[in-house]
Amino acid sequence: MKEAFFYEPLDRNKIRCNLCRHRCVIYPDKTGVCGVRLNSKGKLYSLVYGKLIAVNVDPIEKKPLYHFFPGSLSFSIATVGCNFSCPNCQNYTISQYKLKGKDNSFVPGEDYSPDEIVSLSLKHNCKTIAYTYTEPTIFYEFAFDTAKIASSKDIKNIFVTNGYITPEALEKINPYLNAANVDLKSFRKEFYRKYPKAKLQGVLDTLKLMKKYGIWVEVTTLLIPTLNDTNEELKDIASFIKNELGEETPWHISRFYPTYEMTYLPPTSSDKLMKAREIGLKEGLRYVYTGNVPGLEGENTYCWNCKKLIIRRYGYTISTYKIKNGKCEYCGVKIDGVGL
Ligand code: SF4
Repeated sequence: MKEAFFYEPLDRNKIRCNLCRHRCVIYPDKTGVCGVRLNSKGKLYSLVYGKLIAVNVDPIEKKPLYHFFPGSLSFSIATVGCNFSCPNCQNYTISQYKLKGKDNSFVPGEDYSPDEIVSLSLKHNCKTIAYTYTEPTIFYEFAFDTAKIASSKDIKNIFVTNGYITPEALEKINPYLNAANVDLKSFRKEFYRKYPKAKLQGVLDTLKLMKKYGIWVEVTTLLIPTLNDTNEELKDIASFIKNELGEETPWHISRFYPTYEMTYLPPTSSDKLMKAREIGLKEGLRYVYTGNVPGLEGENTYCWNCKKLIIRRYGYTISTYKIKNGKCEYCGVKIDGVGL
């Protein structure tokens, strides 16, 4: 067990965890909403430090990040646990695993140290380490220690996150955090209250703070039929991205596929994804992508100025690349991103 970074003692050995915006009050011998932080005798501990349930070398396009060292590899890790409880989670077997209070003698995963993760990343020629699959905030202490060492070896760090981290936790990791893909699941408070059981405003505030810190941000919205797919809501999301984060912020609109507790809805149609993409472009965003449907035109990058195709993708593979020194090879305009 590793003592947690962000918590404060309350009366009668209770604790407030200040790592994510739930700010759980945790009773002795209990864990918070994420199920992986234990109050033991008035101190808060991470139960998953170094216990990795997933360790993979992925294309960075899988995160998805399309404007951050495109075509590179990302060493991708996760522990069990999550602070959200989305009924459509693709990784629910690991994200919704809850360690039960003090009865936590078994924590699934293999032991790794931060140094080992950095060495493995170098060995596999990974430009980045991605804290992903589950919510990286809930394994923050391990991510922080790893990111700090990685930065000293010129490896960049990426959070693939639901954006519910507290401002103080984001501030601490900011010097080592280079990019993030943040889920903006909906633009309706009711959706956030009902499905992930969280507050929309917290996610919006994290997005703005990340931009303020200069972290490269891409936004993802999973388009779920009937739940978050009206033209008005999509316009609201696009307009928030443009006005609050900037027109250069890529927006990924992904196909929903029935899974976990949400098998009663159909998959998103390609037509709907392409229409959503048009809404984003019409709202003034430079880069709007469709996701989870290989071969769809919306996977490609087009120059925001001359409109020519500059990155052709199929799934996670790049077949055409017409950017040189960060500029469009056709018209010479700067293409937004890092490592292009
Ligand atoms: S990190 Fe876990 S324990 Fe801490 S506030 Fe968030 S859900 Fe609660």
